[in-house]
Amino acid sequence: MARSDELVFAPLGGIGEIGMNLSIYGVGNSRQRQWLIVDCGVSFASEEHLPGIDLILPDIRYLIEQRRNIVGLVLTHAHEDHMGALIDLWPRLNVPLYATPFTAALFEARRLSEPGAPKIPVNVVPLGGRLTLGPFDVEFVNVAHSIPESNALAIRTPAGTVLHTGDWKIDPTPLIGAPTDQAKLTALGDEGVLALVGDSTNAVRDGRSPSESDVARTLAELIRTAPGRVAVTTFASHVGRIRAVADAARAAGREVVLVGRAMERVAQVARETGYLDGVQDFRGAETYGYLPPDKVLALCTGSQGEPRAALARIAEDEHPEVTLASGDRVIFSSRAIPGNEKAVSRVINGLIGQGVEVITDRDHLVHVSGHPRRAELLDMIGWVRPKILIPAHGEALHLAEHAKLARNAGVPEVLLCRNGDLVRLAPGTAQIVGEVPSGRVYKDGALLVNAEGRTVAARRRLSFAGIISVALALSERGALAADPEIELIGIPETDAAGQSMADIARAAVEKTFEALPKPRRGDPDAVAEAVRRAVRSAIAERWNKKPICHVHVLVV
Ligand SMILES: [Zn+2]
Ligand SMILES: [Zn+2]
Repeated sequence: MARSDELVFAPLGGIGEIGMNLSIYGVGNSRQRQWLIVDCGVSFASEEHLPGIDLILPDIRYLIEQRRNIVGLVLTHAHEDHMGALIDLWPRLNVPLYATPFTAALFEARRLSEPGAPKIPVNVVPLGGRLTLGPFDVEFVNVAHSIPESNALAIRTPAGTVLHTGDWKIDPTPLIGAPTDQAKLTALGDEGVLALVGDSTNAVRDGRSPSESDVARTLAELIRTAPGRVAVTTFASHVGRIRAVADAARAAGREVVLVGRAMERVAQVARETGYLDGVQDFRGAETYGYLPPDKVLALCTGSQGEPRAALARIAEDEHPEVTLASGDRVIFSSRAIPGNEKAVSRVINGLIGQGVEVITDRDHLVHVSGHPRRAELLDMIGWVRPKILIPAHGEALHLAEHAKLARNAGVPEVLLCRNGDLVRLAPGTAQIVGEVPSGRVYKDGALLVNAEGRTVAARRRLSFAGIISVALALSERGALAADPEIELIGIPETDAAGQSMADIARAAVEKTFEALPKPRRGDPDAVAEAVRRAVRSAIAERWNKKPICHVHVLVV
């Protein structure tokens, strides 16, 4: 009989990348397992690589197959890379969802902002709460991060305990919520931890992250000394930062005006859940124009250069309510997520072009990361003292650095894995024992499309080299019944000698057709293929690029 006390772990996203976090833990044996899902996040696509795609979601076909054996899905916190895929994917799973109050409320607000989103019930777990889900005993452990209520999960099973850290840092003086629960983590270490699956985002950075309180001090100074209007942009979900900005504004005698829907949504949820208690009321963007320049502060969405967000529109001087001018100050209380640098630069250049002073974390401590640096990672290892450490939440470099650090710190087993690996944590030495189906799915408009499918690859080719479409009408005897119809899309109009590309294509069509032996002219497929090759190579000869070419042959 197969053993029934195996504990396995399989990441379906979030390893080898930052984003799309989804992990599963299984208890049982290879024939029958019960699964616990942790997080269900998205990645954001960059326009150049995936034209027309906004979001990347984990492929959950394995979970759909295993649906009956899933005991629940637990969210560590409300960042999109941890819960952003749920609205699209949950209806396919229909498993019980668990989250702490702020996460549940922000998820609900996000869901309501999406037209036609299905109703998705969330079971609210109190801070520090504990759940029994099948063979899993899941305890929420408070950790500091860049959003309220980030949780590490202590997952106790008959085969051992896993600490799934989620996203965390050590901040002795966070502006909201309690600091990382060192006492609980140390007690867990005393009790015995089999495996630590941990955040590797900042494993290449030495020392410790500065505190949110340090950032608050810098912001207060920069807002106090600003000569004209002030605009601050940060991640909308960073409630601690919103609070720091609000406090600084009040001290400087400025009203806070919220600009951008995501900022309004988070502020509303944070008020409802008590995270903005004692903070003055915010004003709507419509009041901005009525307030004197030294009495206003605009808190804007768009820290990642998103073209439709508030700050990008202000930088283009296209915002209906908010304008800036020479002598005003904009503070980026944020950092560009890799892939967004160009978009952020475009916004900064637009603002500087308007004579606005731009302050970023390059010159002032106006932002800190919400992830642990090396000294913090070592603290966590020291508290928890795991037998096994699996680096997660990072690109290959971050994972490798986290692994090296853990080995040097004396963790007995350090295991690097990839998305889709099935890792046995117990019994015996941790090892990769198999694979589960995994991959990516793209959100393309309203549809989910397979990443391995041809849709996006074809779109990328089109964006690189355009398309030629040729329509030929043949008589039954195999003669051209009319002049060929030729259309070029996304192809230069003339070659270097000034000759029309359309004429070049037309000449290739006619010459190829004339050269075909009579019997083959009656075969529409043979005609289409010969013409396609001839047109592509005639254009490629002039252009040095090969367009897509479609030939339609109609027998009339
Ligand atoms: Zn996070
Ligand atoms: Zn994250």
